Amino acid sequence: MTATGIDPSAARPAPAGGVWDDVAGQEAAVAQFRRAASPEGSLAQAWLITGPPGSGRSTAARAFAATLQCETGTGCGQCRACRTTAAGTHPDVTVVATDKLSIAKEEVRALVMTAQRAPATGRHRVVIVEDADRMTAGTFNVLLKSIEEPPPSTVWMLCAPSAEDLAPTIRSRCRLVTLSVPSSEVVAELLRRRDGIDGPLADRAARAAQGHIGLALRYATQEGALAAREESARTLLGLRGTGAAVLAAQALVDRATAEAKEHSDLVAAEEKDRFLHSAGIEDGKVPPSLRSQVRQLEEDAKRRQTRLVRDVLDRYLLDAHSVLRDVLSRQLGTGAELVNIEVSAEIEQAASDGTGRITLGLLEAVQEARERISGNVPPLLAIEALLARIAVSLR
Ligand SMILES: [Zn+2]
Repeated sequence: MTATGIDPSAARPAPAGGVWDDVAGQEAAVAQFRRAASPEGSLAQAWLITGPPGSGRSTAARAFAATLQCETGTGCGQCRACRTTAAGTHPDVTVVATDKLSIAKEEVRALVMTAQRAPATGRHRVVIVEDADRMTAGTFNVLLKSIEEPPPSTVWMLCAPSAEDLAPTIRSRCRLVTLSVPSSEVVAELLRRRDGIDGPLADRAARAAQGHIGLALRYATQEGALAAREESARTLLGLRGTGAAVLAAQALVDRATAEAKEHSDLVAAEEKDRFLHSAGIEDGKVPPSLRSQVRQLEEDAKRRQTRLVRDVLDRYLLDAHSVLRDVLSRQLGTGAELVNIEVSAEIEQAASDGTGRITLGLLEAVQEARERISGNVPPLLAIEALLARIAVSLR
């Protein structure tokens, strides 16, 4: 600590191209991480990084890991430690990213073993769990001991939407950092700077994604994604009668399932190839001794697909929510800029046809549908009920 009590490394801005550049719109959190990583800071050994999906939790965790390993201690983005951490090849940084519904106890056991080992080349051994909220209930106890008494150079970084997603015993042992939803302006700026997206498209994609960085990039780069979003907003506001609602729900769930299956099949095929290749099998024939492992891979793929369908539908529901919020904003005359400017004519129409009270009820119904889908209600049932309600409420 310096005589003035001011931490010089925290005050010094990261050099251009540093690892913190891509942690957009999170000044307070970044300052907290950089202070902890500085020689004068106190480095907690277990961190819980929370924030809504798309706010950059795992980007922040990786930047923090790089800063801890960085040869200059700043997260310069240039040195070997920074570059290998960013590329996911640093031997002392383990990242667990899962697109499955849950993280099994065996996987957490393996992580705990990794966390026990001293770092091979870096100053720290870092274990990042991107979706810590997906650890199954029984796994928290496996993790607890390692988080309570980790070896001196081990640092755990758990990422989750909110602190409540983890067992109290775990979260009480972690230093909490909360990321906020980045503004559309910040996301647009990131797309321009990091991804080279041109100005107007970056603005439009960022606005549509409502603070979700990954989604904004998808809107900006995937052909037809923005147009499809607008089209579903039009369909939503044009729904009349329960028959149409039932058909629309079925079409939506079919589309989500197809999208999820396409992605999941691709990943599953790659995983199987990689596994067989690592077992020295080149002709694609699975010997009996490896069948159970291949079956496990296939089951993982199925779980991943289930999760993806829910994610796709949740994204749709968030979009529906933003459309209805625009309607409400017109009804209340807030004068706020519409999120869905492209369908403003339909929004104005729906606003003048209905009342704020009805729209408020529909907004609640959307949230309810999201909760039901994240619970165990079959997605089709939840979506059908929601769309039917919207269809009879919008006249
Ligand atoms: Zn560096």
